[in-house]
Amino acid sequence: MKIAVIGAGVAGLTAGRVLAEAGHEVVVFEKSKGYGGRLATRYAGAKGDTKLDYGLPYIEAGSPKIESFINHLQSKGILEPFVGPFVHKDAEGKTKQVKPTRKRYIAPDGLNKAGKELARMVDVRLETKVSGITHIGEDRTRKRSWMLNFPTGYTENADAVIIATSSKQAYAILNTTIDEVATLKLLRDVDSVEYEPSFSFMAGYGNAEIPEWAVMECENEIISSITNEAVKRGKDAECSFVVHTTSGFAQKHMNSDQERIEEIILDELSEVIGGWSALPDWKQLHFWRYSKVINPLPCPFMEVVGNDAPIALIGSYMNGNSLESAYLSGLAIGTYWNDKFSD
Ligand SMILES: Cc1cc2nc3c(=O)[nH]c(=O)nc-3n(C[C@H](O)[C@H](O)[C@H](O)COP(=O)(O)OP(=O)(O)OC[C@H]3O[C@@H](n4cnc5c(N)ncnc54)[C@H](O)[C@@H]3O)c2cc1C
Repeated sequence: MKIAVIGAGVAGLTAGRVLAEAGHEVVVFEKSKGYGGRLATRYAGAKGDTKLDYGLPYIEAGSPKIESFINHLQSKGILEPFVGPFVHKDAEGKTKQVKPTRKRYIAPDGLNKAGKELARMVDVRLETKVSGITHIGEDRTRKRSWMLNFPTGYTENADAVIIATSSKQAYAILNTTIDEVATLKLLRDVDSVEYEPSFSFMAGYGNAEIPEWAVMECENEIISSITNEAVKRGKDAECSFVVHTTSGFAQKHMNSDQERIEEIILDELSEVIGGWSALPDWKQLHFWRYSKVINPLPCPFMEVVGNDAPIALIGSYMNGNSLESAYLSGLAIGTYWNDKFSD
């Protein structure tokens, strides 16, 4: 069976991998230039070799089911335990060390390496945005059930489709099928899911002394946490940080001027970690419209029941709001469809 997966985040790549291993022909379409979705790494700095995880800062192990995923990435030398130190800065400015309840992992070469590894077993077409899908159906003389449409006018057919994007992007794609199949309930459910936005502010300080803490969580109206990227990268790394803002700040400033946003964040950063941080060598800002889900759907995936035109929705907004829920959602549809379409 030919299965098209839309989105090369952890959910889409996991589903693709499980289905490809069972012998299905899987093609993953990804609109951006890289693998991993919100598991995102950027290169910056004077030489362009400072790596910054500007999406998810590290991977956490919650349930035993994600351990095989983590173990696999550790065995490939991609992940290693993130030992900290982790600190918390309260509203009065007092700092204390904290011990996380879940094990944390980082990728010294950047978390996007985890996405690349997941993509190794599947045919991924990068920079290929799917603009809509059309049900072809058995009553017409075409062999496949679905036609995927691309902005270039190019089309590709598949027997089944998995939409593995954020729920908002899934809504837009699913909406193009509205007259064709029974997707209305899925549309209603997906439409109810809301997200917190956030900014990731990245800044580099060349040879400045690197603070000892690895992550600082803040009780602050502007900054929710700061990741010390140099601690993750090891020896000779440039002093650099990713500052994650609160969703309240991102809501308030999502339409503000970029320079103004950077100025406010830098002012606050210098209050939190010291005046020396007010003048970085370089800085970048990224806005995440769909950072974390507020109200997840209570199921691992959703599908239109019936074998005529299989279509399913997966992603971190199923049963959670984390990398783990993305992985478990991809695993669940992959395992379920392998059983369902075993012959
Ligand atoms: C700043 C930040 C901090 C976070 N912190 C944490 C944390 O501490 N712990 C935690 O567990 N989680 C955290 N998360 C959330 C976690 O990263 C996500 O929940 C998870 O990675 C989502 O995976 P996914 O596969 O469901 O979706 P995504 O990673 O969003 O993947 C979807 C992919 O679909 C692609 N796509 C969208 N539309 C189309 C289209 N039309 N055609 C083709 N491709 C398309 C996108 O480009 C993207 O690559 C954080 C996220 C952010 C942004």
